[in-house]
Amino acid sequence: MIYLDNSATTQMDEDVLTAMLPWLRQDYGNASSIYGLGRRARVAIEQARADIAECINAHPAEIFFTSGGTESNNTVLKSCVDESALADTIAVGATEHHAILHPLEILAQKHTTAIIPVDENGVIQKETVQMYNLPRTLISIMHANNETGIIQPIQELRSQCPEALFHTDAVQSFGKIPFDVQQLGVDFASFSAHKIHGPKGVGALFIRKGIDFKAHQQGGGQERNRRAGTEATALIVGFAFAAKKAYREMQQRAAHTHSLIALLRKELSDVEGLHCNTPEENTLPTIIHFSLDHADTIDGEAILQSLDICGIAASNGSACVSGSMQSSHVLLAMGRSKAEAKAAVRFSVSRHTTKEEIQIAAAALKDILTSLRG
Ligand code: PLP
Repeated sequence: MIYLDNSATTQMDEDVLTAMLPWLRQDYGNASSIYGLGRRARVAIEQARADIAECINAHPAEIFFTSGGTESNNTVLKSCVDESALADTIAVGATEHHAILHPLEILAQKHTTAIIPVDENGVIQKETVQMYNLPRTLISIMHANNETGIIQPIQELRSQCPEALFHTDAVQSFGKIPFDVQQLGVDFASFSAHKIHGPKGVGALFIRKGIDFKAHQQGGGQERNRRAGTEATALIVGFAFAAKKAYREMQQRAAHTHSLIALLRKELSDVEGLHCNTPEENTLPTIIHFSLDHADTIDGEAILQSLDICGIAASNGSACVSGSMQSSHVLLAMGRSKAEAKAAVRFSVSRHTTKEEIQIAAAALKDILTSLRG
């Protein structure tokens, strides 16, 4: 199999698993217990917290472990308007992941919400965001888009809105490009482990010091009363291990993946009617996204199924909508037609992807398009 869906999830590294195993076997204690077995788990979790904090230039007390990006996003949105009562209005980018857009739909029943439009490249302009610079407003804009890979100018957008609270979903960018909470000036940020060769089911939420944030999930007093539930020690240790490794190897990984994306771009540049939605600049080094100009005559699902028959795993962008094959809300927000938003292919690579795999995938896509048009 040629795996080109690394933005959906990645293969967990063997050394990540090795780092996790003791916490699933002999060191199974509850980190809240006062005896040695529990205290050892507590030490491991606090070390992991310090490691994640160091990656993003935060203080360890600003890092809260969650079950992943979805929980981190839900927690910020819901707690800000409900439990913490910090905001009355939420404004989010039009191309956000469903882990932002779907909770927003629910919150819209009781709170004021708004969708911030993007330009034709999927980027939010600073003039557009300025109107949300109001006290008691939460703005949520993702760092990098999971379908097209475009990077939003978070630092600039944040600086336009000093009155508002600012959250960024950094699930796709974390560990792939630098992310510094001080430089970006955000109040909240969401992260996930399984996009960087870590385990599934664990992530983190950055909450800036000084914000009076209350738990969205109630129960025990874990995570300093901000996220109830026994900490998943092994997952947390695996997350920190994968994150430290991603940061150590960031430059080398980015150079490798970027060269593969450039190769794919070149190989597919002459395919008639294939439109690349990932600009060459200000994008993640791991994603390239295409749609079809004459999508009304081609079945987008058939492209992905044909790639699968060739042994190539790719998707149309968002793992959460593939299978049901809806039109991409990201492309629609960028002003594309419904048909084009349905016939899309995203290739996302990792440090394990090879040049040969890219050449095979490009040739396969060309053949598939020729036969489907046939
Ligand atoms: N946010 C973005 C941008 C994502 O790409 C994803 C996963 O695809 C999520 C949030 C959800 O993260 P998780 O799978 O850890 O819940």
